[in-house]
Amino acid sequence: MQITGEMLIGATAVRGKDATLHAFDPARGVDLQPAFGGGGAKEVARAADLAELAFDPYRLAPLETRAQFLEAIADNIAELGDTLIERAQGESALPKARLEGERARTIGQLKLFASLVREGRWLAATLDSAQPERKPLPRPDLRLQKIPVGPVAVFGASNFPLAFSVAGGDTAAAFAAGCPVVVKSHQAHLGTSELVGRAIQKAVADSGLPEGVFSLVVGAGNAIGEALVAHPAIKSVGFTGSRRGGLALIEIASKRREPIPVFAEMSSINPFFVLPGALAARAEALANGFVDSVTLGVGQFCTNPGLVLALEGPHLQAFIDYAVSAFEKKGAQTMLTAGIAAAYQEGIARRDQSGVERVATGAESDASCPALPALYTVSAAKFLATPQLEDEIFGPASLIVTCRSEDEMLDLARRIEGQLTATLQMESDDAPLARRLLPILERKAGRILANGFPTGVEVSYAMVHGGPYPATSDSRATSVGAMAIERFLRPVCYQDLPPALLPLALQDDNPLSLWRLRDGELGPN
Ligand code: NAP
Repeated sequence: MQITGEMLIGATAVRGKDATLHAFDPARGVDLQPAFGGGGAKEVARAADLAELAFDPYRLAPLETRAQFLEAIADNIAELGDTLIERAQGESALPKARLEGERARTIGQLKLFASLVREGRWLAATLDSAQPERKPLPRPDLRLQKIPVGPVAVFGASNFPLAFSVAGGDTAAAFAAGCPVVVKSHQAHLGTSELVGRAIQKAVADSGLPEGVFSLVVGAGNAIGEALVAHPAIKSVGFTGSRRGGLALIEIASKRREPIPVFAEMSSINPFFVLPGALAARAEALANGFVDSVTLGVGQFCTNPGLVLALEGPHLQAFIDYAVSAFEKKGAQTMLTAGIAAAYQEGIARRDQSGVERVATGAESDASCPALPALYTVSAAKFLATPQLEDEIFGPASLIVTCRSEDEMLDLARRIEGQLTATLQMESDDAPLARRLLPILERKAGRILANGFPTGVEVSYAMVHGGPYPATSDSRATSVGAMAIERFLRPVCYQDLPPALLPLALQDDNPLSLWRLRDGELGPN
């Protein structure tokens, strides 16, 4: 499949005339061909209007059609083969194996949502029978199901050009819910976005769905994204990226004539608690695992462990010594974009000036757009007195905080911001401290791990990739896993509707064979 540099507005390929953009190869430091034409509010309006036109036919089509559509996208992405991987590699400097894994995850997540659509529990079909004889007042017949909210705007992330981008988790969840999607192409991977966009566009046509189910818009700067969030046809937003970007979109969404939700996944430093028993038992293995996790993918993971908490003493010193030695062996590598590399350098420079001690620096290399790994230590007291030490540094950097007592560790845990993950490294004798930490961490993080490393997010039914602000803008939601569909649904109750007008999910004879809550009993009833 050829990359043309066009936007995909419904079934049409449109060359934007407002700007010229190029994808950039950060490893070679060169622009990639072809040039992309950037559009603006006009193309956004066309895409959003088409999405609105497509909404009712799409959501009312049989669930089997929707499931097969998701599977067709997965198949079309697989068919792109090496063309997709090579382009994504050129645009992101991510290794081939990592991108192949990400493609498998993207395909797997589309298929997970296809099976979710078929299974239908997300409809939350609930029937409360009428009680005409009830005194003092009769009860009406009440039936509830969830319906999609409407067209969704998706902003892909730079660090997952496949799994968190055009056909990533937000898009798959929105399609599964029954929402048309307009994606704002990320400037860091324009060609990858077009290839995947065309795979979706083909699946829309082959599935006989209205063209407005999917569009992909491209633009220079923020204006196109702002216009998308502001468009009245858009009813919800999925975003992964910087805190500043997420907050800017939330502000636009909240000032609309009809404010809409923005599900933004923004920043997290993922506290990694190394409890005393674990430190004593396996300081070296823990240090090596931790350093691998911090530097994995040049540290460009939202679940990167950017903060370590442990009790001071000889075992912690041994852990630090092992970590320093492992860090110094890690070389500087190319980041996703020149902008992200510059932001990393600025973050490191700020940290160097904030009075914390840099104890290890990775090995210099001749990589372009480089990030040199950096490890810092600081006392808990100083950490608590320096709020900016909580700011995410997106890249291979981490900060070890030494606590003088369990109470100080608990106090620090209480005071940190919301997180995507919190990790406990522990042995059985650490259970009393872990038991004291858990209720605190439940209030802080979307996922709590024991004896693992937070980088690497499974796509499954029980996964939560979310958490209180600033990890996300809405701690009730996840952007990974089956529950992500909930962000794009809303409940509707039907009171005393004549049987012939009831939606299939709520009809007496249960034609969709759903599990339903009927008069308080859950079952295939
Ligand atoms: P970003 O700058 O927030 O951009 C993400 C997307 O949102 C892009 O498509 C961008 O469009 C758009 N956007 C950003 N600000 C906007 C605004 N004010 N109005 C309209 N659209 C806006 O994130 P990024 O490019 O992926 O990475 C930059 C930084 O984000 C990193 O250095 C890192 O700090 C953070 N990050 C965090 C995570 C995480 O998971 N926590 C993941 C990736 C990145 P344009 O490209 O056209 O500006």
